Amino acid sequence: AAEEGFDIEDVEGAIEAAGHGPLPVLAVVGRPNVGKSTLVNRMIGRREAVVEDRPGVTRDRVTYEAEWAGRRFKVVDTGGWEQDVLGIDASVAAQAEYAIEAADAVVFVVDAKVGATDTDEAVVRLLRKAGKPVVLCANKVDGPSGEADASYLWNLGLGEPHPVSALHGRGTGDMLDAVLEVLPSAPEQSFGTAVGGPRRIALIGRPNVGKSSLLNKVAGEERVVVNELAGTTRDPVDEIIELGGKTWKFVDTAGIRKRVHLQQGADYYASLRTAAAVEKAEVAVILIDASENISVQDQRIVTMAVEAGRALVIAYNKWDTLDEERRYYLEREIETELGQIAWAPRVNVSARTGRHMEKLVPAIETALAGWETRVPTGRLNAFLGELVSAHPHPVRGGKQPRILFGTQAGTKPPRFVLFASGFIEAGYRRFIERRLREEFAFEGTPIHISVRVRE
Ligand code: GDP
Ligand code: GDP
Repeated sequence: AAEEGFDIEDVEGAIEAAGHGPLPVLAVVGRPNVGKSTLVNRMIGRREAVVEDRPGVTRDRVTYEAEWAGRRFKVVDTGGWEQDVLGIDASVAAQAEYAIEAADAVVFVVDAKVGATDTDEAVVRLLRKAGKPVVLCANKVDGPSGEADASYLWNLGLGEPHPVSALHGRGTGDMLDAVLEVLPSAPEQSFGTAVGGPRRIALIGRPNVGKSSLLNKVAGEERVVVNELAGTTRDPVDEIIELGGKTWKFVDTAGIRKRVHLQQGADYYASLRTAAAVEKAEVAVILIDASENISVQDQRIVTMAVEAGRALVIAYNKWDTLDEERRYYLEREIETELGQIAWAPRVNVSARTGRHMEKLVPAIETALAGWETRVPTGRLNAFLGELVSAHPHPVRGGKQPRILFGTQAGTKPPRFVLFASGFIEAGYRRFIERRLREEFAFEGTPIHISVRVRE
């Protein structure tokens, strides 16, 4: 590498940065207006419109990447909950439930000026029962005079209250240090293969696409008595199902079945559930109602799964209802609306008739195989060398940037680092990605490519 103009340390650093595994998840929960969104904004270090774009606007984005003291983690903002829909208690309980299911640690935010309310105490009980690590954030302590308010919160029994002003930044550093102490460095449900438990599937899609119908169909009589299954820890919200001769874990099926919450307007809650399921899964099976137009909501769910870096299968449901005309238009819609995930295996199913259920498992297996593929460095560079000489980057300003070499830094999903002699244009990056996919059968998986340019 050195003779190509890259420092060996640069190269190693780039590979390490690109190759990180799944990140631990931190959830920020608390009553409305205690300052959750303000705090999340501070953690992610940018003024993303977390606070501004309320109320009423559906916010699908709930997970952000943050970094503190050199450690990266995901932070989940539950501040966008539309409290009017369910009432405060239900919404706060839903957040806590989310945190219990999906997060590796929780920051529980209390308004120190107000003190602990009954709702706060109810959440404490939920959190304590779940046994996830909790850091207590006593917010709105804008100056030293507020610290006495914070100390009252010892009464909650969650340990030391950390006095913080999310608004001004006071105390947030110390609090984040405390968070890092309790946050595991890798998620609980690590993707390691050592355990050999069942693969985890998130069955997701907007309301009424047929998720619970499909789940019931595939579960059928094959439902396994879970306690008899060695080595599986099972959340009550997960469903162990035998399919195609293998055992699978459908995660967070409570979100599918428990539909009382899913009244209209509770989109944000649905997004949280979806994010929680995706976070816990290895592969997302996204159900789309083929009888209806592909919607923005469908696309957001796709984006969520892709951004989370999960393997992906698209199942077009309600195929039994399609006439020829609809089939024609559906294909056009898929091309225009979901062209960016043309790499995802596709099955056309009917949860009602059972059509093509047997194709689901092969599609899932294909996607997982792509997700886990590792290309040896030698093969990758042989391929890159040929590709670059057959299709060089266009000349720009009298110069021709070249891909010099590359390596795969990680899997699940595959992550590549390419080293180049100059700026590589987006079009050329896409071309490389397309050819990588073709050559190494990255079907059903997002792939990350980062390019390092020699100084
Ligand atoms: P959320 O509903 O829990 O997400 O709360 P927000 O982050 O939207 O904050 C609610 C209100 O409290 C906003 O007006 C914030 O500006 C204010 N706020 C948040 N943190 C602080 C703080 O540390 N000090 C003070 N004085 N106000 C804060
Ligand atoms: P969920 O909200 O995604 O869990 O959707 P449900 O499973 O509750 O299904 C919503 C509606 O679509 C119900 O009335 C189902 O009977 C119907 N449905 C689900 N799958 C199919 C299918 O494959 N074909 C037809 N015709 N209807 C379906």
